[in-house]
Amino acid sequence: MNALDSLYQQVILDHAKARHGDRLLDAPDAEHFERNPTCGDEITVRVRLEPDTDRVAELGWQGDGCSISMASASVLTDMAVGRTVPELLALTDEFRTMMRSRGAGEPDEDVLEDLIAFHGVSKFVMRVKCGMLAWVAAEAAVREATAAR
Ligand code: ZN
Repeated sequence: MNALDSLYQQVILDHAKARHGDRLLDAPDAEHFERNPTCGDEITVRVRLEPDTDRVAELGWQGDGCSISMASASVLTDMAVGRTVPELLALTDEFRTMMRSRGAGEPDEDVLEDLIAFHGVSKFVMRVKCGMLAWVAAEAAVREATAAR
């Protein structure tokens, strides 16, 4: 393992421990449950938008699963709050593209921030769903929250 790989692994382990956003919101606009049967990861993501904008005001989740899935949910919380729904959906697409890259390419760290740590995970096809799980749930939740307006 090179120095960069181990740095990225540390980012994932730190987030898996910190679990930012690991609490369910009381009055969400929408919630979505996702399950990853191959690994056994489960997550429920709840979101609340700002009353007069399409900006994410709060995001919280409750889940159980491997370090990769929990770390990804923690990074999601850090990166989703304050973004508009279209911005979050665009970021999700960027992340999905990287996770489907099988370790190829040079993802943009300015855009992906801590998500860059998951680039190495994309080499392991079985773990891609672990990385995407919280993001897929959030994607569905913000779409539902927007549609409900
Ligand atoms: Zn997993």
